Amino acid sequence: MIKITRTMIEQLIKAPCSPGLMLSCYTDLTVQDGIHRPGIGVIKHAGSLIKQGIPDNLHDRKEFEKNYDSVLKTLENPEFLHSPGIAIFVARQHDQFQIIPLTIPVRSELVYSEEPYLVPLLKAYFEQQRQYLVLAFDNNLARLYHADLAGIQVMNDWHSDVPQKQHSSGDRGGWSQPGITHHREELLNRFEQEIIKQLVKSQQLHPQIELILLGHEVAMNQLKHRLPELLCDRVVHTGTCNHLDSETSLRKAIHEVIKKQNAIHSKSQADELNKRQSSKAGFAAGAADVLTAMDSGKIRQKGCLLIGPDSREVVLRCSSCRHLTIDDIQKCPHCGSGCKSCNLWEELLLRALRHDWKVTCIERPETLADEGGVALLFD
Ligand SMILES: [Zn+2]
Repeated sequence: MIKITRTMIEQLIKAPCSPGLMLSCYTDLTVQDGIHRPGIGVIKHAGSLIKQGIPDNLHDRKEFEKNYDSVLKTLENPEFLHSPGIAIFVARQHDQFQIIPLTIPVRSELVYSEEPYLVPLLKAYFEQQRQYLVLAFDNNLARLYHADLAGIQVMNDWHSDVPQKQHSSGDRGGWSQPGITHHREELLNRFEQEIIKQLVKSQQLHPQIELILLGHEVAMNQLKHRLPELLCDRVVHTGTCNHLDSETSLRKAIHEVIKKQNAIHSKSQADELNKRQSSKAGFAAGAADVLTAMDSGKIRQKGCLLIGPDSREVVLRCSSCRHLTIDDIQKCPHCGSGCKSCNLWEELLLRALRHDWKVTCIERPETLADEGGVALLFD
């Protein structure tokens, strides 16, 4: 899977599309009824509406058709249909054509505008920023992964000498039954110690990372009791795992756990906002207050932007210093340069990207409805 990078987004921002327009396409590629991908139907419908809306100008129509044709060809290409979603940016008149497979489904939409429409891509980028350490283990094998929604990398794996099943004294000539049991317990104990040692080492490398444990129930309970407190505090999910012999199934299971975990995190951030609203401290709600709080430098290391579905609201951006305001002004109050109408959500997310702030995407529109879809938690 492709990891969305800051460079990728910056290149898209710089990509020339004027004169002319850029076609930005996000498609949910989820299959329904075994064969249909309704997301592609949504794009085709949106495409015909855009076409109808283009004034009767042969050049503009031809330009759109050329760009739209590239989108349709990409959506028909089996090479890209394995991903849950895809983002396509095309301005053929300037040789711009970028395809980004996405690791989570997106809402299907087609936008034809002067600049690439980046909100869903930025949200996918921030969703991928949540990193996890995943330990999958049984009595014989342990594997440690570094994982996010874009990919899962094995960091380490190691085997134990514990026999698959406990032998009886009849199988092991000369060994008494208590001796066999004791030997097995010793091997298990040594294996557990090794797991804990590896976890501590990895946690020291990534102190803030969250930990997911996947294992057989009995082994899991034993391990949990022996984990140092520091590691215990980082565990966000424990689950059973029966896929250690199949790497593909295991990776699928890990991806699902991460998706669920990201959703739990979003909910906890929304709860945190409610708590702060009750105590009337540590937050800003609504576009105007969020912009003021951002400008005053209140958001630092622990701050977080909470953002709901794109409201398509407009913000004025200074063409020189990038100051943002929702007030109806002609010139930037800071440097006097001209201002341009932009998408508010995109500008908020881009600012978070540039300053390396954390972002939590809240997909349920009702969650942030009273805050106008956007809020900020600050340190
Ligand atoms: Zn300015």
